[in-house]
Amino acid sequence: MSKPNALQISQNLNDFEQHPERSRRALLKTHFGYDSFRPNQEEIINTVLAGKDALAIMPTGGGKSLCFQLPSLALDGTAIVISPLIALMKDQVDALNANGISAAYYNSTQEQEVQAAILEKLITGQLKLIYVAPESLWGLTNHLSKIQINLIAVDEAHCISSWGHDFRPAYTQLNRLKQEFPGTPIIALTATADRATQDDILQQLGIPTAQKFVSSFDRPNIYLDVKPGQNRIQHIYKFLSSRGLQSGIIYCLSRKSTENITKKLKAKGYDAAAYHAGLSAGDRTQIQEDFINDRTPIIVATIAFGMGIDKSNVRWVIHYNMPKNIEGYYQEIGRGGRDGLKAQALMFYSYADVLMLRKFTEGTPTQEFQLAKLERMQQFSESLNCRRKALLSYFGENLAEDCGNCDICKNPPKYFDGTLIAQKVCSAVTRMKEQEAIGTVIDVLRGAQNQQVLEKGYQTIKTYGAAKDLSWKDLQQYIIQLLNQGVLQIWFHEKGRLVLTPIAKQILFEGKNIRLANLVKQTEEIQKPKAARSKSTKKDLFEKLRTLRSTLATTMGVPAYVIFSDASLQDMEDKKPRTINQFSEISGVGQAKLDKYADAFLKVIAKHLDATDLKTTTHEKSFQLFKDGKTVSEIAKERGVAENTIFGHLVKMHKEGASIDLYQFITQEEIKEVKMAQKKLGNPDGLKIYFDHFEEKMPYSTIKLGLYLDPKK
Ligand code: ADP
Ligand code: MG
Repeated sequence: MSKPNALQISQNLNDFEQHPERSRRALLKTHFGYDSFRPNQEEIINTVLAGKDALAIMPTGGGKSLCFQLPSLALDGTAIVISPLIALMKDQVDALNANGISAAYYNSTQEQEVQAAILEKLITGQLKLIYVAPESLWGLTNHLSKIQINLIAVDEAHCISSWGHDFRPAYTQLNRLKQEFPGTPIIALTATADRATQDDILQQLGIPTAQKFVSSFDRPNIYLDVKPGQNRIQHIYKFLSSRGLQSGIIYCLSRKSTENITKKLKAKGYDAAAYHAGLSAGDRTQIQEDFINDRTPIIVATIAFGMGIDKSNVRWVIHYNMPKNIEGYYQEIGRGGRDGLKAQALMFYSYADVLMLRKFTEGTPTQEFQLAKLERMQQFSESLNCRRKALLSYFGENLAEDCGNCDICKNPPKYFDGTLIAQKVCSAVTRMKEQEAIGTVIDVLRGAQNQQVLEKGYQTIKTYGAAKDLSWKDLQQYIIQLLNQGVLQIWFHEKGRLVLTPIAKQILFEGKNIRLANLVKQTEEIQKPKAARSKSTKKDLFEKLRTLRSTLATTMGVPAYVIFSDASLQDMEDKKPRTINQFSEISGVGQAKLDKYADAFLKVIAKHLDATDLKTTTHEKSFQLFKDGKTVSEIAKERGVAENTIFGHLVKMHKEGASIDLYQFITQEEIKEVKMAQKKLGNPDGLKIYFDHFEEKMPYSTIKLGLYLDPKK
């Protein structure tokens, strides 16, 4: 951990006053290695720097931390950061230290000597940020009165709200902050979009006039996919088969399924671990750390997993079961792709899940509320329109265009006239006197001969077997569509029996038509990760960089992403820096990381480039130089060969499919002359005959090109 440099800090502040904009960007590059702010970051930072309170609402991965970390660097004194989980604090502190920023966390699990050392640093002004759990905050008050506090950040601020989903009683004590530190700006941060929770945060923190910054909740880099819940495990195998060692999480509803799935994945050779509340605290920490450090790529977890995880390179999230509400779903998929690179969110949806989730709500005081949310989740799952539109509209945001990055956009449903099916279903429901749940209705329509059907005498009703031609599952899907279109309703409180609505009556008696979406046979096409990564040499370099990163992480005892995010490695792979200067241009490379890691990473890159260089054929080399903007004569000089040879290389590359405009080197007239000579001379071998024929006035290279190219039409 580097000591804070008081001079540097006051220098920053000076700069800041004189050139606020420039110096904020300088801090961003120097400390964090980034060139530009994400949406709203700069505005929030300005507000805090102006001494005003702020509420930042940003989706997970939106970059909230920077909104208090950067102002603290720009100001004298120390920032107090309230954070609910030790794991979260530790990760952020690790990341700050890796960036050369002096920060520490303080909590009840630390040894006394450790605590004492941290307090010493705090009091002597050696910390730019101190992270503390709300429970431990008041034990610090004595010390806090002795130091200069530049701002107070309340991270995961939704924990203050009793109707939020992660309520923490100790957060309610935070209302004292504004009273005890009236002049210090408070910045509250959360990813919870719920209006009521937002207002609650402001009220409870006593910052009613805080400026609110609501960022878009769109996470366009996450591909949204919902699949029917059949053959889930087969789908998962297929999904994983193209994903190498990418990190991902599979969420399940029960402990038992986490263990079952883990077992199956292991049997297939995947490195996976189950995570649930039944494990010891020690085991859970170990599993979490192995995941964070890229040692275990796959975690199969109950929803308890993930809240405390700041891992930026989670490449995919699978919901084995449908989550119980959209907030939970969004939070969980939001753990993917925090580095901004492509990520996949795959959810399996089955009606059985809905029924199970309904059961869970039984007897709870907020049952009605939960059921309503569950229903919206179900509607989302069954959506036949752009998923992202459906999702964002839930958060009150409207997407103007379909997203193009979800299963529906990629594979839009086709509609057909479903009136006949609807009539059959509605008629069957009528004839069963609206007493049966969806399963029995399907059985009857398909003419099943099971005990329940026969006992009730349903084999005698008119629509018995009327939909024999449809598979059980297809019919079920159509009935769900009818539910969604308000044709039928489920009376959950009466054993889930199906009842007709006025629309059903219109269909039966008034000739109303109904459109149903074709059930697209699930094409097994699963998005290939990283289409861009087609060249095998590219992949090699990324893997080499990744290996170096994990070696360094192990040596230093920090998570891999603290060294560099996947996004930084990707940038290195793309730009292939050769020099320190070029390396400093990489996203995520600030001064501290430049000093610490540039050499090691540059070495790996150089070695890789030299190795690929050896493999590169001589004509590829010439072509590469040509693509770099060099002229043929420059290339000839650099490579110490005749220009003619270089033309030969370019022609060869052209033959192999390289995109290169050879017509720039020859006129139409010349092509015609060469072709004429070819005819006249009887298509001889070699070029010398042509050279003599043109009385040494036509260069060899032109002859070569003229023979190869056809005149333009
Ligand atoms: P949140 O707390 O909102 O979930 P984080 O603060 O953890 O998100 O940031 C998520 C990731 O985005 C981190 O890896 C962070 O370094 C990165 N990040 C933040 N701001 C920027 C930026 N301006 N440019 C590039 N990356 C950024
Ligand atoms: Mg955060």
